[in-house]
This record gives sequence, structure tokens and C-alpha cells, in this order.
Amino acid sequence: MTDEVTISARNVVKAFGQGNAAVRALDDVSLDIRKGEFFTLLGPSGCGKTTLLRLIAGFEMPTEGTILLDGADITTLPPNRRPVNTVFQSYALFPHLTVAQNVAFGLQMLGRPAPEVKATTERMLALVKLEAMAGRKTSQLSGGQQQRVALARALAPQPKVLLLDEPLSALDLKLRKEMQVELKRLQTETGITFVFVTHDQEEALTMSDRIGVMSHGKLQQVGAPRDIYTRPVNRFVASFIGETNFLSGVTEGAGVRLPVGAVVPVDSPRAGTVTLAVRPEHVRIVAPGEAGAIPATVTGSVYFGTDMNYQLALADGTEIEACVVSGVTGEGALSKGEQVGLRFTPGAVQVLED
Ligand code: ATP
Repeated sequence: MTDEVTISARNVVKAFGQGNAAVRALDDVSLDIRKGEFFTLLGPSGCGKTTLLRLIAGFEMPTEGTILLDGADITTLPPNRRPVNTVFQSYALFPHLTVAQNVAFGLQMLGRPAPEVKATTERMLALVKLEAMAGRKTSQLSGGQQQRVALARALAPQPKVLLLDEPLSALDLKLRKEMQVELKRLQTETGITFVFVTHDQEEALTMSDRIGVMSHGKLQQVGAPRDIYTRPVNRFVASFIGETNFLSGVTEGAGVRLPVGAVVPVDSPRAGTVTLAVRPEHVRIVAPGEAGAIPATVTGSVYFGTDMNYQLALADGTEIEACVVSGVTGEGALSKGEQVGLRFTPGAVQVLED
């Protein structure tokens, strides 16, 4: 992966319908996707992920804004003239053709010479480990195998960018996990830029070089999985990815004073009333009355093997979740009603934008 940009969206707006019935599927989206990266568009249903993918593919045109590929404006270029290919959730294979014929099809349509078509098809089938199935009809394959054929077919013309629209969502959990590893391997081996759409946060965190988190047609945050998880910029990103405790308070010096009186130190204070976000694994339970700790009451607990989740309440009713390593036996577990003190891992408290 380099810093070189392959796909750029510049102030892209996509509206469907007119007047009061208009839906702004994309609302001023600007984004740079780097050459050779595994980039994921992540967000809940209806946030505009597929629409952005379709604009990059050329199946739709933006209402406003431009799409660039390697610096050239491709906003109005038809799909077949873009060095971009798409893998759909439905695979869209030809059931009456064999595996090899499916993979060869796109290359033949591009007018590539027969020996090249044959060699590339063989190489692609080896890449997705389906050499042994070359002569089978695709209707005789399992879902996972069909997905591999779809991938081989899409990769065969060596596109600069491969767009993948929830390609794993039709697979069962075990196969889905296997294909996640497989997709990541294919992307690394081919070096092709992948733009992957999912609403599954775990899938996005495990596979991507970078993630663009979307909500209501807007890009909320773009960053590496670790950045998005540890430094979410707003409440939406913090709650969509992983579990988060939210606390409101007022800035005071280098900290934030909570309504219960305690001051939480923060790295980058912002003036006024703010929202703090703390992951449950960064909440530490200490002895009640320990200097600087926030007094809390245990209201419930869930045992997860080596982890223990505690629900706690502050004096003003704010609910806090803490995830602590319990040891396999859960020894020393706290009981409901017990008084404790809470501390947050220094540096792990985020001050949110909203
Ligand atoms: P999902 O995960 O459910 O596929 P998504 O994030 O991909 O959702 P989009 O399919 O991009 O979301 O849709 C974004 C918004 O635009 C939705 O409100 C959707 O109803 C609307 N929309 C998409 N395509 C059209 C269309 N052709 N006509 C009218 N509205 C549309």
C-alpha cells in the first residue's frame, strides 16, 4: 500500500426522487481511497454505502460532485470503460456455464486473445483454489465455491479497483470467517485496491487497512481500524463500533467534572459541556473511597469465561459497564449492591465532538 490515491470522491451528493420525497443518499461525501489498500465502507442499512459503490462503478451518476480515478475525472464515464469491477452479494454467475467459462467470459468480451484467456483463467482458478472444479457447472457448487468463482471472474481482467458489495453476507458464519481470510489474502497477493461494503463492524475491523464509517449519507470518520476503535470522533462512531460508556460533564482545567463531582482527566480538553466516551475494558474497579475514584454501585454482572462484565451506577443514575478479566474461576466476583470506586485508564477517555 502507498499514499498514492486511486479513487477520489469530491463533494459527492446523490439525491433520489424530487421535492419533499427526495432522499439524499449521499450528502457531500469527500473521500480518498489509496492505491492497493483494503478500504471498507461501514455503516447501518440505508446509510448510503451501496450508492457510493455504484457511483464508483458508474452504475449511477452523482447529482453533484465528481469521482476521480488516478486523478482523471470519470464522473460520467460508462461502467464498461472504467478499470473497475464489482462482486455482488448475489454472485450473478451464469448457471449454464462451467466455472472456467464463467471466469473466461469477461476476458472474451474484452476481446483478449484465446491463449491469454486460457492462461489467465487458469491462473485465476489457482488463485481462488478452484482448479479442480474448472469443468463443473456453477449451479453444482456450494455458496462459498460460487463466491470464489465470482471473485476469480472479477479479478481476471486485472481491474485497478475491485468493488465488493456485502459479498459474504449470504454465507454461514463458519464459511464467512474462512472467506474473510481468503479475501484478505487475495487482496494482498494481487495488490488490487479493494473497496468493500459491510454493515458488520467486526468484519470491517479485522479485514481493512482503513475504514470509512457512514451514517445518513455522510462520512462520519475515516481511519485505520485501531484509530476508529480507540479514537472515535463522535457518538455515532463510538456506539456503532464496539461497546461504549457515555458520560456528560463540564470542562474544568485539564479534566471534565461529572455531575457526581469527580473530575476525569482527559488528554485534549474542549471547552464547555462535553460527552466523554470510555470503552468498558478501560473502566477499572477499585476500592470504594480510593482517592480520585468515582463512587459507584454494582447493579449487575455477567460472566463470560475469562471476562466478567459489570453493570454499575453512579450516584446520579448514570449507567456504566466495566469489562474486567475475572480469571477462569471468577474469583473475587463482586455482588449486586456492593459499593466500589471507578477509575478510567489514563489516555483512554475520548472527548467527543457532539
Ligand atoms: P444496505 O446496507 O441496506 O444495502 P446502504 O447503506 O447500502 O444500505 P443505500 O442502498 O446506498 O444504503 O441507500 C441509501 C438511501 O438511498 C436509502 O434511504 C435508500 O432507500 C435510498 N435509495 C437507494 N437507491 C435508491 C433508488 N434507486 N431510488 C430511491 N431511493 C434509493
